[in-house]
Amino acid sequence: MYICTRGMGESSTASQAIIAGMSGDGGLFDPSVIPRINTQFFEQLVSLKYRQRAVKILQYFLDDFNQEELISSVQAAYNDEKFSSLAIAPVVRVGDIFVLELWHGPTLAFKDMALQLLPQLMAKALVKTGVSDEIVILVATSGDTGKAALEGFKDVQQTRIIVFFPHQGVSEIQQLQMVTQDGSNVTVIAVKGNFDDTQTGVKKIFGNLPLNHQLNQGGIRLSSANSINWGRLVPQIVYYFSAYADLIKKEGLVAGQPVNFVVPTGNFGNILAGYYAKEMGLPVNKLICASNSNNILTEFIRTGQYNRNRDFYKTISPSMDILISSNLERLLFHVSGGHAAAVRQWMNDLNAKATYTVNPDCLAAIQSVFWADWADERQTSQRIQSVYSSRQSLLDPHTAVAWEVYDSYVRSTGDATPTVIVSTASPFKFNESVLAAIKRQNLREVPGGFAALAELSAATGWTVPGQLQALQYKEIRHNYVCGKDEMESIVRQTLGAE
Ligand SMILES: *Cc1c(COP(=O)(O)O)cnc(C)c1O
Repeated sequence: MYICTRGMGESSTASQAIIAGMSGDGGLFDPSVIPRINTQFFEQLVSLKYRQRAVKILQYFLDDFNQEELISSVQAAYNDEKFSSLAIAPVVRVGDIFVLELWHGPTLAFKDMALQLLPQLMAKALVKTGVSDEIVILVATSGDTGKAALEGFKDVQQTRIIVFFPHQGVSEIQQLQMVTQDGSNVTVIAVKGNFDDTQTGVKKIFGNLPLNHQLNQGGIRLSSANSINWGRLVPQIVYYFSAYADLIKKEGLVAGQPVNFVVPTGNFGNILAGYYAKEMGLPVNKLICASNSNNILTEFIRTGQYNRNRDFYKTISPSMDILISSNLERLLFHVSGGHAAAVRQWMNDLNAKATYTVNPDCLAAIQSVFWADWADERQTSQRIQSVYSSRQSLLDPHTAVAWEVYDSYVRSTGDATPTVIVSTASPFKFNESVLAAIKRQNLREVPGGFAALAELSAATGWTVPGQLQALQYKEIRHNYVCGKDEMESIVRQTLGAE
């Protein structure tokens, strides 16, 4: 069963938690017990393919789904039409470091790992719980999540998706990825405003009770695909196990031997999945939390104080430009021993005073698992450049942040445990900053869009991913631009609730 991190409400099944997304009291759903596995479990995983490994792990958490439902969900999510690697999440060796590549999905970033599966789980959960309403997913995106959610939800029964992005506020490639989106249940709208305006607009729609009531009467429920939904977290646990099984299979790791994972972190979703894997019994020594200049998590893990009274930086690793890491709430719930009242207090403090401090016991529990550091813009670019020139491997800026932090970890601890760097995006997705880094130039000095893709490919000999190359020739299907005050009326129009 799933319980709420703030202690309110009744416990829910996995299906109910996935449909609701968030608990009524503002808290998050969390499994009441984390299942434990043993060493034989890894041995079983070794000979299996990614999809089979996924079913083995998902069944522990989605216990109201039967085998058939899990098998058909993972089949629809992780197949060779959608993923360019048969391994789905391959582990690649670069020198003495292992790199877990999570960007072989349709949108070339790790969000696909979860957003390919979530819609499948949601459609099955609706049938299972007898909910006949249509679920409408509203998304405000700064680039990556919108496209990944569109690809995941397109043509999924009983669902629709409406994505808002800031007009002229995303890269040329990101914009093209969204406005050329196909599917019979998708709507994509540019908003005249920045990302905050767009997100505020979506939050207002979620909070608009008369509108929601009217929609409910017409058999429609609004929902969200952002990373607080349990259905987005659980698929991410799988690849930690899968990576470990691959290390046993190909790299001579002995079942039971500890490894570290280094995770480029923003909303704390990816690394939290690693924490669940460790709590289940995966032999993880340290989870290394890598941040960019928005280093609020580094400070928190070192001091126990979470303080968002600080400047916000726009960086070349934009998917980690975040000051409120929502999923941290789940970690706090666990390390405090399920102390919902304490979690509630910290979250209230965050709201009221923009800061909270956990007690020494919690901090010690956090530090026994996590280690944290951050990389600035110059270090990130230099890391892309140095790994490229010394090892002929091309990193995207998020992965470069992780690599830099790993280096710092080894320097300060001397720890020689085998380590997996979690790689979260294709370098072609962040073509302009990667090109600038390997040419040692300023971002201003390199070309943008398709010219940058071509130049990156020429400079490295790597092929531009087909789905980016094809964007040049795809039909534009969504060219509507609305004012930031028109978002509600767009939703009404789209859903026939005028
Ligand atoms: C979303 C994202 C991250 C951050 O992941 P969290 O789960 O939010 O910590 C890192 N890298 C890339 C490329 C992303 O898209």
